[in-house]
Amino acid sequence: MLLVMHDQAGAGDPDNFQRLWTPHRMAYIKGENKPTGTGPEDGCPFDAIPKMTDEEGLIVARGNTVYAVLNLYPYNSGHLMVVPYRHVSDYAELEAAELVELGEFTQRALLALRKASGAQGFNVGMNLGHVAGAGIAAHLHQHVVPRWGGDTNFMPVVAQTKVLPQLLRDTRQLLADAWG
Ligand SMILES: [Zn+2]
Repeated sequence: MLLVMHDQAGAGDPDNFQRLWTPHRMAYIKGENKPTGTGPEDGCPFDAIPKMTDEEGLIVARGNTVYAVLNLYPYNSGHLMVVPYRHVSDYAELEAAELVELGEFTQRALLALRKASGAQGFNVGMNLGHVAGAGIAAHLHQHVVPRWGGDTNFMPVVAQTKVLPQLLRDTRQLLADAWG
């Protein structure tokens, strides 16, 4: 399920930012940090993240049943995920409170990204199951990917001068401050 909320003109021209991130996506595709099985005890990162501090886990906001976290392997700067605390793979299995808060956190993610970054559009949605392209299929997660015309982004300058962990820490702080 992928809901395009704004007309997109494609990925745009490669820039320094994209070149910076591509190796990390490659590491992800090769299996780094992927769980070894489908259970919560099989190294599921979405179960481990909430046990960390916000800074360590890149957590932007914590709710009662879901949390918002920066994607360590982003498609774009500010790529957030809204994740239920409960280890559940199927959207159809979410309970009422989880459904409501997942939707509410998605709204708040859009607002925070607009406020912090001036995002002009978003890709919002989830991939359910490996065949649908889910990297971690055992634990569902809603992607919120901000988009800008030509896919320039809100930290093009620092992206050229800062190493990736620092960039992610700064992005997390910006979004946590903008979270309402
Ligand atoms: Zn999990």
